[in-house]
Amino acid sequence: MSSDAEYDVDLFVIGAGSGGVRAARMAAAAGARVAIAEDRYLGGTCVNVGCVPKKLYSYAAHFHDSFDDAAGFGWHLDSPATFDWPTLRDNKTSEIKRLNGIYQRMLEGAGVTLFNARARVANAHTVTLTTADGEVNVSAEKILLATGGWPWVPEFPGSDLALNSNQVFDLDTFPKRFLVLGGGYIAVEFASIFNGLGSETHLIYRGDLLLKGFDQEVREFTRDEMAKKGVNLHFSTNIARIEQLPEGSLKVELTTGEILEVDAVLSATGRKANITGLGIESLGIALNDEGKLSVNERYETQVPSILALGDLTAGPELTPVALAEAMQLVDIHFHKKAPRPLDYATIPTAVFCHPNIGTVGLSEEAARDEFPKIRVYRTDFRAMKHTLSGSQERMLMKLIVDDASDVVVGAHMVGEEAGELIQGIAIAVRAGLTKEDFDRTIGIHPTGAEEFVTMRTPSRY
Ligand code: NDP
Repeated sequence: MSSDAEYDVDLFVIGAGSGGVRAARMAAAAGARVAIAEDRYLGGTCVNVGCVPKKLYSYAAHFHDSFDDAAGFGWHLDSPATFDWPTLRDNKTSEIKRLNGIYQRMLEGAGVTLFNARARVANAHTVTLTTADGEVNVSAEKILLATGGWPWVPEFPGSDLALNSNQVFDLDTFPKRFLVLGGGYIAVEFASIFNGLGSETHLIYRGDLLLKGFDQEVREFTRDEMAKKGVNLHFSTNIARIEQLPEGSLKVELTTGEILEVDAVLSATGRKANITGLGIESLGIALNDEGKLSVNERYETQVPSILALGDLTAGPELTPVALAEAMQLVDIHFHKKAPRPLDYATIPTAVFCHPNIGTVGLSEEAARDEFPKIRVYRTDFRAMKHTLSGSQERMLMKLIVDDASDVVVGAHMVGEEAGELIQGIAIAVRAGLTKEDFDRTIGIHPTGAEEFVTMRTPSRY
């Protein structure tokens, strides 16, 4: 990699989240002189207020079911299990501090210069850092914007009393009554988490069924399983207002007129590109209809020396997507490889509601739109574990096949560890394997997963 001495660095990355850190490390490994600025926490949303703490809390919430399930297997707890929120919260914080340190050492080890400072773009080749000692300019051949997203809360009377997903992890006291607004990933995950941890939980969603865009049957199955676990689901409704009562609890009036009294309200109503103060307006970098930055297949904005990736740009707001984009970007700009656009159609995803959802490829509805004829193989059953546990939890598995080519174009699951399982199935779907390939695969017995290779008769066409 040739260094152009005209600039202080070859690449300046703004934002040390998943995508920014990966791009910085990989570019440095390719021989580039790289700097990165971050004024908040290393690791970004995923490590600090997203995937990682969320999964830790989800594990915590699952113990509730485990304690209930244990009795049928002969285990008895001498006294009822109790839950201590500060222990979970503070252990989570320690783990995240450990990860922040790992990120710092990874960047240092790769030879990346780290600035703990707020950065903004001054011009096509200059970043201005605001430090305790004043402003410093750093020139760069290329600037990568990787500032991710920020939770967005709609305005309604008392909306300032609602928490966003950055704030919900560190509550001082455990909310015995919890309400979440929204029907997307964060809403269903946090409804499941607080319900599992023991809160009386309400989910308020303006639509008639949660998780818009997912397979319809998956959405219905998830709704029913979440309701069975005790989450109070309120559809076709919104929050009209929130008022703080004198003793501290929150009175939430719904658009249906119903009043709920709770201890915390989480607004999980989507995220917006985090561009405030980034300085891109003056450079003429336009935003698309969703308020995101448009980039070409080389991740270049309208100013070719300014690149962008991850949640700032269109495409699924998922850590592995930002990581894959970072690898691509470095290949293109620092290994001079031709762009190999990512296959956004077969990105697997998991929703860590309880039970989990794992999905890859097309929903049944999308496949019907795309192909003249499809075959749907589906099964739902009570997992073997629950024959003794007594739990009524069920699992759903579903394969969508293009009838003409026999290719499996979608795989969906609702059930324990669905994310773990669908990751493997995603390789097959990504590779374009056929239903016959699935059928020729020997099952692993006894597992729930074997159903994915033993469903022989289409449930419908
Ligand atoms: P989502 O876009 O998934 O969901 C937002 C929800 O808020 C939707 O149900 C939407 O309703 C609702 N909403 C939007 N505006 C309003 C409003 N004015 N009043 C009431 N409701 C409203 O966003 P999230 O915040 O849940 O998550 C952000 C992103 O982060 C996700 O899309 C996902 O990409 C990522 N993420 C991924 C996770 C994972 O991989 N497991 C976990 C968590 C987040 P409607 O459906 O009607 O538009």
